[in-house]
Amino acid sequence: MGMPHFLAIPYPILGHMNPLLEFSQVLAKFGCKITFLSSDENYNRLKSGCAEQSKVIESHIKLVSLPDGVDPDDDRKDQAKVILTTINTMRTKLPNLIQDINALDSDNNISCIIVTKNMGWALEVGHQLGINGALFWPASATSLASFNSIQTLVGEGIIDSETGLPNRKQEIKLSPKMPLMDAVAMPWYCLDNPFFFLHMKEEMKILNLGEWWLCNTCFDLEKGAFSTSPKLLPIGPLMEDEHKINSPFVEDTSCIDWLDQQPPQSVVYVSFGSMVSIKPPSQLKELALGLNLLKRPYILVVRKDNGFGLNNAYVDEFRGSQGKIVSWAPQKKVLSHPAIACFISHCGWNSTLEGVYNGVPFLCWPFCSDQLINKTYICDVWKVGLELEKDENGLILRGEIKKKVEKLLEDEEIKERSVKLMEMVIKNKTEGHKNLNKFINWAKK
Ligand code: UDP
Repeated sequence: MGMPHFLAIPYPILGHMNPLLEFSQVLAKFGCKITFLSSDENYNRLKSGCAEQSKVIESHIKLVSLPDGVDPDDDRKDQAKVILTTINTMRTKLPNLIQDINALDSDNNISCIIVTKNMGWALEVGHQLGINGALFWPASATSLASFNSIQTLVGEGIIDSETGLPNRKQEIKLSPKMPLMDAVAMPWYCLDNPFFFLHMKEEMKILNLGEWWLCNTCFDLEKGAFSTSPKLLPIGPLMEDEHKINSPFVEDTSCIDWLDQQPPQSVVYVSFGSMVSIKPPSQLKELALGLNLLKRPYILVVRKDNGFGLNNAYVDEFRGSQGKIVSWAPQKKVLSHPAIACFISHCGWNSTLEGVYNGVPFLCWPFCSDQLINKTYICDVWKVGLELEKDENGLILRGEIKKKVEKLLEDEEIKERSVKLMEMVIKNKTEGHKNLNKFINWAKK
């Protein structure tokens, strides 16, 4: 039996494209054949990025594309619209594309379709054509277990069936071995549009067509979550700095030279991922002035689309001299640098894994989606971080930032636990590889 041929179909946003591309490259290293389907726009970015990089990708992976139907003038931040347009446009075109791919490769037809969230429709198409399917989940197993519990939580009257909001204040356990989590910390809770909750309620039914739910995590990080479904398989942490689609933000690598000049474990790294915006302006000011109060070096990522430009009103009071402000950092390299002391993070799953993998303690500043669950793990389960508390107006004040950074950096137990957790995660990579082999062997059938 030959090696499987996977058709990888990510939802066309960076947070899905890059992890699935990284996973595809890992599968290619195991000898599998990969066809990677992007939206036309992302395909062009992949092709036109660094010529050298796309050559490397294409030596292992065949790139194909379909339009996602989103008009160049449409607002891509309107995710509800992007989801519906993508589904309607790509779905009708996928069967013909599969036929064309198979016609060109008659000895090695597509044996399995791998999708990310929102692309469950492609599993349905595969099912109709007799092709196996799997889900690749670039987030925690716990967040997937939460989405998978929606029907139960509705059935037990814990959350509302239309909005996903909790019917009363309470903590829930998704399984006996999982931690208690606030019902308001569920990953759909702070999405202000009920569309996302209702969409995920339906999407989970379709994702069940996938034989495996492959999660970029490792078993020991979230043991309990794996007891909730036999489909869940930890294949991470994927930490190779593989070739990626060019992000719209240009990486400022000068911060690595700058880090080389800083004392060991001295620098506070502050980043809120690729989507979160710090609002209102007074919150930006408190963050900037809080960093000023620290009297230690820091790197602050100020994305260009964040409304966080240096011309903001607070700049007169903000002495950025101790810090390095960059518009996009080479984050994996930054977090693995010995000069880093701690990470002020929005607790996105990739940032969480990257911090954990490098033994860096966290100051948690979660905003929405799965970030609240990730914060629960960081602070209450793994105990490798502290949460920044909001005042009565919902702001994190400069004094709180100063106090918590100092408290965190004085806490030797948190530092020890961070190192132990890192060691455990590195050990789990072997298990992740075994699971990958199990998955590939299944796909050969
Ligand atoms: N990232 C980066 N440079 C930055 C900020 C973030 O490379 O300046 C990367 C980070 O390493 C991570 C991803 O962007 O892999 C953010 O993913 P995460 O899941 O943490 O958050 P999201 O962007 O999905 O909210």
